[in-house]
Amino acid sequence: MLVMKFGGASVKNADAVRNVGYIIRQFADQPLIVVISAMDKTTNQLEKLARWARDCDETEAWAQFSRIREFHYEIVYSLGLGEMPGLKAQLEGYFQEIERIIRGLLLLGEFPSRTYDRIVSYGEMLSTAIVCHHLQQADVAAHFLDVRDIIKTDTTYTQARVIWSQTEANIKERVLPLLEKHGILITQGFIASSMEGKITTLGREGSDYTASIFAHCLEASRLIVWKDVKGVLNADPRRNPGALKHDHLTYEQAVEMTFYGATVIHPKTIKPLYARQIPLEVKCFLDLNESGTRIAAFDPQVSTGHLTSTIVKEGQVLLRISSRDFSFMKTSLVSEVFRWVSHAGAQVNLVQTTAISLNLCLDFHPDAIRELESLLMDQFHVEVEKDLVLTTYLNRGTGDLDLAENAAMVQQIEDKLFVLQRGN
Ligand code: ADP
Ligand code: ASP
Ligand code: MG
Repeated sequence: MLVMKFGGASVKNADAVRNVGYIIRQFADQPLIVVISAMDKTTNQLEKLARWARDCDETEAWAQFSRIREFHYEIVYSLGLGEMPGLKAQLEGYFQEIERIIRGLLLLGEFPSRTYDRIVSYGEMLSTAIVCHHLQQADVAAHFLDVRDIIKTDTTYTQARVIWSQTEANIKERVLPLLEKHGILITQGFIASSMEGKITTLGREGSDYTASIFAHCLEASRLIVWKDVKGVLNADPRRNPGALKHDHLTYEQAVEMTFYGATVIHPKTIKPLYARQIPLEVKCFLDLNESGTRIAAFDPQVSTGHLTSTIVKEGQVLLRISSRDFSFMKTSLVSEVFRWVSHAGAQVNLVQTTAISLNLCLDFHPDAIRELESLLMDQFHVEVEKDLVLTTYLNRGTGDLDLAENAAMVQQIEDKLFVLQRGN
């Protein structure tokens, strides 16, 4: 059994959808779950729509609604699906839901996170309805699966946490029989629902994670995520056009790369696969002959991650925390600081201690950092430096350090080198 995932770029227009249909047919001789994201930048477009509605800009909101509608119908007509029984009714049902949400926002003038999750979820519903009908028209026995009935989460809207026991039971009891009956299931990434049936989302770019949840619960033979790049490269090709492909990576290497900013795979994707030793293949939907990158357990026969990777994470902040009275930063004080960090919901990327100071490199989430600063102020002296960039070099070896003068923090841990720099 195989799980595959297609992101927004792979279904951005009619030709792209045809290509996805072609790829699915190449794998159709085995049970297949296909997870699909919203088409192109639809999630961003739905976010914009909701903000206009919240700001009571009726003209812009309805114009944006029409643009989203036309974008999807243009793909439907280009694929020759205009007369497909069922598709129009399904799409109209989703557009009516979006309309209802907009009317609510226009009245309310606020945009709670549970409404965010409801409105953006329709991007994935629309795209999967279209892809599924395209396959059915091409006589592929694809069946539409509403993931909101299957993946269950808590109600941390916009960043919902999976309730694994219920999700796994749903997948085994409901998805497996459907898979046996239909062979190919088309479902949505990124979205889910709470135990009470409220729509939730797993975090932006979360469709890779959805695919990993299915692969884990079904104990799939592998997960393939189809991207617009040759595989996992040793740098972001948008920053470094000469970046080279890793043929193989271990789970550990992949998890470090994605955590420190290799956005090609969502960071949460690796753990569920690692837990059941399911290989992840990152392949190129633009070139099926390209071998891609295989991520799996360490194998002495396979050379993994021998290239140095350079990963860049922007939007970092450095907190320099020191005791007010020259007390040493002993374990009790450090643990006090971390208690507040956890309370504020901040994400720590690097830690350094000296006799009386503790430096933390964190993701810059303004509310969390402000809260943390005010929580620490009473007891500690706190300096905050923003707009920093964390560059992580993986598998770098221990050559001479040629550090830029503007480095705010440097750390070397085994073969990993971290440099936190001030923007130029
Ligand atoms: P999806 O279509 O699944 O949403 P994304 O567009 O989010 O996929 O991810 C693919 C993009 O990730 C590539 O186009 C590339 O620009 C970017 N990227 C960033 N870091 C890397 C890396 N180390 N290797 C490959 N691609 C990377
Ligand atoms: N459509 C969602 C987003 O744009 C999820 C995804 O693409 O993975 O964030
Ligand atoms: Mg994406």
